[in-house]
Amino acid sequence: MPTEHPRESAPALDELIFVATTDIAARTKGRSMRLADFDEDTSLGWVPANLGIGSLGHIVDNIPYGSTGDLRLKPDHSSLTRVDGIPGRPPLNIVFADLINTDGSAWESCPRTFLRTAVEQLRDEFGITTRCSFEHEFVDMSAKGDHHPFSLQAFRNAEPIGSTLMTVLHRAGLEPETWLPEYGRHQYEITVAPTDPVAAADRAILVRDIVHDLFAAHGREATFAPMVAPGETGNGVHVHFGLDDEDGNTLVFDPSRPGRISQRAGSFAAGIIRHGPAMAALFAPLATSYLRLAPHNWSTARAFLGLQNREALLRICPTNESDGRDPSGQLHFEFRGGDIGANPWILLGTILRAGMQGLRESLETPEIVEGELDLDGTHASLARLPRDLAEAMDVLRSDEIVSGWFSPALLATYEAIKRDEFASVQTKSLAEQCEVYTRVY
Ligand code: GLU
Ligand code: MG
Repeated sequence: MPTEHPRESAPALDELIFVATTDIAARTKGRSMRLADFDEDTSLGWVPANLGIGSLGHIVDNIPYGSTGDLRLKPDHSSLTRVDGIPGRPPLNIVFADLINTDGSAWESCPRTFLRTAVEQLRDEFGITTRCSFEHEFVDMSAKGDHHPFSLQAFRNAEPIGSTLMTVLHRAGLEPETWLPEYGRHQYEITVAPTDPVAAADRAILVRDIVHDLFAAHGREATFAPMVAPGETGNGVHVHFGLDDEDGNTLVFDPSRPGRISQRAGSFAAGIIRHGPAMAALFAPLATSYLRLAPHNWSTARAFLGLQNREALLRICPTNESDGRDPSGQLHFEFRGGDIGANPWILLGTILRAGMQGLRESLETPEIVEGELDLDGTHASLARLPRDLAEAMDVLRSDEIVSGWFSPALLATYEAIKRDEFASVQTKSLAEQCEVYTRVY
């Protein structure tokens, strides 16, 4: 009898850890190593010119970073996350890194440091802390047939991906809250619980990569691009945030004032509304972002503060007061302008810096729009947002406060990328432009 050969088994894979950053293109980048070799002293090399890689995947010309220079990716161990349960893929260990110079000092253009320093400033200068969460919408591009908004069938059509997504996020400690079929064709939304700002932005980065990973593992394709085709429903990235004192008591709620928002919260909101048009290049940084930012899209029609209004740049969210629930700790803001092209660290960092500017100048609470928007009448004078990415860059440049938040090199790199991107997609039809970004995001 022939002897049976023992079947060769695949070697057990060593686990890797991906040391990650995200940049102006808002794509997660980095390097990996064996998890067994990763420790408190680990840092990995990085290249300043990588910051110049735009959404279209190449380093653009005319940036202040060239072929020389070196940085380190310095892991923030508190961000270490293990993502397990994506079918057919090994667990993902991932840690977010700050970009530092080789002497250990902070790099002038590190987007994560940009947010962290804003959070520190908010605490040190104003005694304010905040808890934030990012809400993501995306489209299942592989889905076929009818999509009825919010329907059970749309929910079921995404199974088992939906259940797996919630489980994977929960086990990774990302505290998923809701998973729902949205209004748009084959559009879904995933929300996670609020946490401190840097962790919230880290979570946002993970959510998008996990969604992509999971859909790809099922042979399907998801996109968060702001518009998948002209005339479709937009995909937004909405940022929820409150303002608390250092003991976690709300600083937003004041039932004696319009919108029930305190004077301080009003000043904070006023900074965001005033600088909203200049911030557009940062929160809506893709050419097709401007197809989404239009009236009747439930995205953001103008730069205004709205009471429960889904066309507001900044919305005062509703509270749930059923069964005698206390509204005070619930009342918070939602910044609705953002989309997937915005780096979450930069997006949140600019929201906080704009709010702080409002506090610094003790700005009056802006007009609070109640009820439906009437852009031809009562609300005709509300500030417009830029019409396209090129105008957005001009408005950003002309606002010295907003452009002053960035190192000159980061701003110059940002501008070079966005001008290059606009020039290159502008020659295409709107449908083609949507397609370009649908592939990237
Ligand atoms: N899809 C809308 C957007 O582009 C948001 C709809 C909503 O959830 O209110 O932001
Ligand atoms: Mg939504």
